[in-house]
Amino acid sequence: MGGFPKLGLDEKHGACLLLGGRGGKLPRMFERARVGEHLLQNGNRKKNNATIRAILQWNRRPQMAGSPPRVVVVTSGKGGVGKTTTTANIGMCLARLDFKVVAIDADVGLRNLDLLLGLENRVNYTAIEVLNGECRLDQALIRDKRWVNFELLCINKPRYKMPLGFGGKALTWLVDALKKRPEGTPDFILIDCPAGIDAGFITAITPANEAIVVTTPDITSLRDADRVTGLLECDGIKDIKMVVNRVRSDMIKQEDMMSVLDVQEMLGLPLLGVIPEDADVIKSTNRGYPLVLKKPPTLAGLALEQAAWRLVEQDSMKAVLIEEAPAKRGFLPFFGG
Ligand code: ADP
Ligand code: MG
Repeated sequence: MGGFPKLGLDEKHGACLLLGGRGGKLPRMFERARVGEHLLQNGNRKKNNATIRAILQWNRRPQMAGSPPRVVVVTSGKGGVGKTTTTANIGMCLARLDFKVVAIDADVGLRNLDLLLGLENRVNYTAIEVLNGECRLDQALIRDKRWVNFELLCINKPRYKMPLGFGGKALTWLVDALKKRPEGTPDFILIDCPAGIDAGFITAITPANEAIVVTTPDITSLRDADRVTGLLECDGIKDIKMVVNRVRSDMIKQEDMMSVLDVQEMLGLPLLGVIPEDADVIKSTNRGYPLVLKKPPTLAGLALEQAAWRLVEQDSMKAVLIEEAPAKRGFLPFFGG
C-alpha cells in the first residue's frame, strides 16, 4: 500500500488527505480514511458504496447554512488554476445533494464551463438574448440531463463580442430574475469568474455575497489570490473561503511545494477544500463529465465532494492536513497512536 494517498474525514479538521502513507495503523480519527483507501484501490463496488457513504455521510443531507439563494463567485486572479473545474464539480455535487443550482459562466471571453459539463451542444440561447428580449430566461437555462436541478447559464456565444453595456448591473439583474422565477428560487447560484481583475472580474463579483478563491500552492497564484481577496473585501464580500488545488504530496515532501498550512498562513482564509493533482481531472474535463460523477470515485472527486459539503454547512474549517501517515514501529501501532 506504500505511497497510496489516503483520504479521510475527521470532525475537527474536515477533509484530510494523508498522503504517501506506508500502511501502518492510522491514528483513530483517520480510520475511515483507510477504508476509503481500500475503496479507491480495489474498486470493490458494494463495499465501496458503503464506505463512500460513511466518508461523505450520504445517508444524511447536509444542512444548509444561510438562506437561499446563496450567490457564490468562484475566482482566483490567475488563470488555469481550477475555477471552472471547481464550479462544475461543486455545482454538480450540490445538485446531487438535492439543492437547486444555477451555474453562470461569467468567463465571457474564454467560456468553457459548458464544455466541462458536456452541455456545449445545447447552448441555443444565452443571457445576452435574454437581456435583448429575444428569448425568455428559462430558454437560456440549460438543464442538465443527469441532475435536472442543475442549470447552466452562459452569458454569450463563443467568439461573439461582448456588448459594451454588459456589466455588474446586467448580471445582478439576471441573478434577481433567477430569484424570482416561478419554478422557485435556486439554493445556489455559482458564478464562474474570468481570470484577471479587470472589467470581467468586477462584473462577475457584483451580484455575489460569498466567494471561493481557488489557488494552487505556488507563489504567482498565491499573490494573485491575495490581491483578489483584497478586492473582494473592498467590494463588501466578507464570506471568502479558499480551495487549494493541484496539491502534490511528493513535492511537499521534497519541500518543492508549499504545504496547505503554509498557503493558509499566507492567505489567512478558511479552507473549503484541498484538491490533489489528479490526471482524472484532465480526463473528465476532456470528456465533459464532471469528476464527482465518476464511479468508483477518485481522490480529487472525493475532495471536491467534501468541499461541496462544507460549502453547504459553512463548516468551521480550521485546517486540512496534508501529511504523510507516519510509519508505525514498536508498540505504538498497538495503541493506534
Ligand atoms: P480556470 O477556470 O481557473 O482557468 P480550469 O478549471 O479550466 O481553470 O483548469 C485548467 C486546467 O487544469 C484544466 O485542463 C483542468 O483539467 C486542469 N486541472 C484543474 N484542476 C486539476 C487537478 N486537481 N489535477 C489535474 N489537473 C487539473
Ligand atoms: Mg475557467
